[in-house]
Amino acid sequence: MDIRENVPLAPLTTFEIGGTARFLVDVRTEEQIREAIEWARERKIGFVVLSGGSNVLLPDQGLDSLVIRFVGNLWSVQGSSVDAWAATNLLELIRAMATQALGGWEKLAGIPGGVGGAARGNAGAFGSEIKDFIVRVSALHAESGETRFFNNEECDFSYRHSFFKDHPEWIITRVVLQLQPTDRAASETLIEETIREREKRHLQNVRAAGSFFMNPVAPQEVQDLFEREKGVKSREGRVPAGWLIEKAGLKGAQVGGAIASVQHPNYIVNTGDASAEDVLELARLIKEAVLAKFGIRLEEEAALFT
Ligand SMILES: Cc1cc2nc3c(=O)[nH]c(=O)nc-3n(C[C@H](O)[C@H](O)[C@H](O)COP(=O)(O)OP(=O)(O)OC[C@H]3O[C@@H](n4cnc5c(N)ncnc54)[C@H](O)[C@@H]3O)c2cc1C
Repeated sequence: MDIRENVPLAPLTTFEIGGTARFLVDVRTEEQIREAIEWARERKIGFVVLSGGSNVLLPDQGLDSLVIRFVGNLWSVQGSSVDAWAATNLLELIRAMATQALGGWEKLAGIPGGVGGAARGNAGAFGSEIKDFIVRVSALHAESGETRFFNNEECDFSYRHSFFKDHPEWIITRVVLQLQPTDRAASETLIEETIREREKRHLQNVRAAGSFFMNPVAPQEVQDLFEREKGVKSREGRVPAGWLIEKAGLKGAQVGGAIASVQHPNYIVNTGDASAEDVLELARLIKEAVLAKFGIRLEEEAALFT
């Protein structure tokens, strides 16, 4: 195992924020995860799991622990199902499956990060969620080292939620997905169209962690107001956090180097020199304003390690 010391974390996250990891190790196999956990246990230090780093806010003072970072793209295809190592980049996998005329999940194209991270948070976009394609997830128990499969139902998926969010002791190692036979060219076109749509909405290539807050379930009168104003139906009683932030007057609000994006107010963007403290303070102001105006408590979608 190549355990490195004092590794800068900011470049490993899309936010580009965070101090250094006391220790960091890249893992490519289940066995390496077990070894890394054992290594940390022997030294009585904690560990955290990191994958694509696209949904995390890491602390300015760094992490006094071992960061176990999932790396590598690895998958195998059987019929129309694919079994992927958790670190496998989601977009790369969607593109690779299209070349094999397997698809159905093109609306997820462009969500950064790995399939393990996506499964943990039930990532989704444009009405599609990764849970719709997951057959089972293989996970390793950090205490016992046991590995077992969780079928789709056991994963307890719902909006941006899975069993694994509530049970960080289970580390996702592989994800098995069922795709549909499709036309290669049609699938590739849909992937590129989806990415273009994301670029148009400024959802790509920004120093952020994607949507910072989850879309909350709102009281009926707030749903009605949203539907009247936007002319679209709210889904499962939820209204977009970005719309609430805008209505609360915090679109474009800035603390230090952190800004609530003008294009997409639920993206807190690092304009260049934002600290984690800036982001947290802006998030606090946003939560306060939305609570005061609508009586709604926003909850973070991004994982906060602070
Ligand atoms: C520009 C941008 C756009 C985005 N757009 C979307 C979008 O449209 N829809 C959407 O849903 N999300 C979106 N996101 C958020 C993010 O891309 C997803 O949440 C993604 O699935 C996170 O995967 P990751 O590999 O980067 O996870 P990381 O950020 O590395 O980790 C996130 C959390 O998962 C945990 N974790 C990571 N890997 C594992 C594992 N193998 N086992 C257990 N726990 C693990 C980490 O400890 C951490 O708590 C966007 C982010 C950015 C930066």
